[in-house]
Amino acid sequence: MNAQLSPDPTRLTAGFLSAPHKLFINGQWVPARSGKMFDVINPATGQVIAQAAAGDASDIDAAVKAARQAFETGPWPSMPPSGRAKLLWKLAEAFEAAGDEVGTLESLDNGMPYRVARFVAVNGVAECLRYFAGWAGKLSGEVPTVSFPNHHVYTLREPVGVVGAIVPWNFPLAMAVGKIAPALAVGCTVVLKPAELTPLTAIRLAQLIEQVGFPPGVVNVVTGFGDPAGKALVDHPDVDKISFTGSTVVGKSIIAGAAGNLKRVSLELGGKSPVIIFPDADLDRAVEGAANGIFGNAGQVCVAGSRLYVHKKVFDRIVEGVVDRAKKLKVGAGLEPDTQMGPLVSQKQLDRVSGYIASGKEQGAEVVVGGQRIEGKSGYFMQPTVLAETNRDMRVVREEIFGPVVCAMPIDDDDLDRIARIANDTDYGLSSYIWTRDMGIAHKLARKIKAGMVRINGGMGIDYALPFGGYKQSGWGREHGREGVEAYTEVKSISMALN
Ligand code: NAD
Repeated sequence: MNAQLSPDPTRLTAGFLSAPHKLFINGQWVPARSGKMFDVINPATGQVIAQAAAGDASDIDAAVKAARQAFETGPWPSMPPSGRAKLLWKLAEAFEAAGDEVGTLESLDNGMPYRVARFVAVNGVAECLRYFAGWAGKLSGEVPTVSFPNHHVYTLREPVGVVGAIVPWNFPLAMAVGKIAPALAVGCTVVLKPAELTPLTAIRLAQLIEQVGFPPGVVNVVTGFGDPAGKALVDHPDVDKISFTGSTVVGKSIIAGAAGNLKRVSLELGGKSPVIIFPDADLDRAVEGAANGIFGNAGQVCVAGSRLYVHKKVFDRIVEGVVDRAKKLKVGAGLEPDTQMGPLVSQKQLDRVSGYIASGKEQGAEVVVGGQRIEGKSGYFMQPTVLAETNRDMRVVREEIFGPVVCAMPIDDDDLDRIARIANDTDYGLSSYIWTRDMGIAHKLARKIKAGMVRINGGMGIDYALPFGGYKQSGWGREHGREGVEAYTEVKSISMALN
């Protein structure tokens, strides 16, 4: 992650920010039918930096019609897979060419440090597009062996149809492309609804989609609020699938909304992921992993390691290490060159995180470091925070905070079943982290943990080849890898009597 800050971010983005942004529907830029716009705010300053069109149900309807037409009569599903792959590759190249600008926009919009934005929003997104381009034409059906004699049978995998993609604000572009790329690779068409807090890179994505020559209607981008725009997409009777990333509470409402026409639904929701550190671990690396795992992107990460369980023999050392890192972290605007942690995304998110810390204190938690908004800055800056003396009954341990706040708790036990019970004592099941040099312990515990992802000794970051998603209330289905591509398909079985 060595991206250097662009020498002149203002010049790079000034034209884009001052433009009157519209919706991208059927290959055209159109204003919201209501004419309404909404402000886009830089979380590092609290200032309005741009305006986006506030789409509503009528705009969503137009976008769904365009996507339907592109799917049924347009060239997309019938295009040779290599043609679809070629366009996805061209889009990856376009992102790389616009890399400094896109990274700057993502940092301005979300608050994340520029080098993270550049790495995730551009390099990661190009990687994602190329990975899924590789799947175009690779999914195929099977020829099952059946018990009926004299029959010829086979299965087909077909694109599910029109996909509604609804994404959150924490990694806005990566989330959007992570849905669009597999959907397009298999021949689906898409209506994307970005988060109202961070619409800018989705608009830039639409511009690049237009630039590289995707046929009209294949990807439509409707900026706007969860209700009405997101809700209208979920309720729309002509959408075949909703792919949603966001909060568990909205995820549940999506299941209800999708019932109308029994849409397919994929959900990537929240998490409260445990970090388990054994005394034999490489403690320096474990400290670094635990700190990065909760302070990265200011804790606004669904896979954040927010429950830190440390064996009592090394509890003090690990907590001291994480506290030390919290104290040294440079918190600042994403576009300041030495920033390691940016602001929270909004005033609402700052209030939410502050509210959780207050509730922790009321319930008896000790604030070892942090716990306060950073004063003297106009943006939504929060101190990296470590809470101790926490327990399973506290809201800070049970609920997803989505901020730079970790609850440290000692484990007074060597029994793996009991440790697994503690780790699994949550409604969520997204990720989990194990630190030990004993590979027997690591892999035995990995099997006992109820989570979609287990990372041992740091594991690795996002790789699009590896399924991503959660057990329990962390969601339905998986993104990435074969599972993530198959999620945008239907299986059809065909049988023929041979006599
Ligand atoms: P959110 O659920 O409020 O919003 C997510 C998206 O849903 C936004 O685009 C929003 O406009 C839209 N939306 C809101 N209400 C809607 C409705 N009624 N119908 C349809 N769409 C609606 O979540 P958020 O605050 O934007 O993001 C934070 C949450 O997302 C956290 O809980 C976090 O864990 C979760 N998240 C999960 C993952 C994952 O991969 N599992 C990734 C990122 C974020």
